[in-house]
Amino acid sequence: MSTPETNEVIGKDALERIVKDLSKIPWWGMSRREIEWYPTIDYNKCATCGICFVTCGRRVFDFDVKDKKVFVAYPYNCMVACQTCANLCPTGAISFPDPGYIKMMVAKNKVVKKAFEIICHLLPEDKLSEKETETTPEDK
Ligand code: SF4
Ligand code: SF4
Repeated sequence: MSTPETNEVIGKDALERIVKDLSKIPWWGMSRREIEWYPTIDYNKCATCGICFVTCGRRVFDFDVKDKKVFVAYPYNCMVACQTCANLCPTGAISFPDPGYIKMMVAKNKVVKKAFEIICHLLPEDKLSEKETETTPEDK
């Protein structure tokens, strides 16, 4: 179910696509704006192919019509831990923080434990008791 925040339209991009403010959606209890995860473009490498801009469904990128370049318009709309645009970029112009940063945030926020609590009712009893006896690094 969507929340009022997820439906907050904040504008349109250069392709006239609606942009929503996704930065207000918390990440496992943390404010999204406290998490420094978003793409950075190296313009020495960028070939202005546009694939990052066109494919990111969260509208992190926009296109500067005047300067004829793609730019990171809404960094906190980026999905934490996603790196799809960097994987698609043909010139390796997009970078992200070290994945170790995300692993640290996962541990800090006990994300594995919280995720398990959400899905545990879907597991059969035997699997459940198996899992409950396991410890994760974040629980230590
Ligand atoms: S995908 Fe890479 S090369 Fe293409 S516009 Fe984006 S940053 Fe530039
Ligand atoms: S990592 Fe994913 S969500 Fe973030 S800007 Fe790239 S494609 Fe969009």
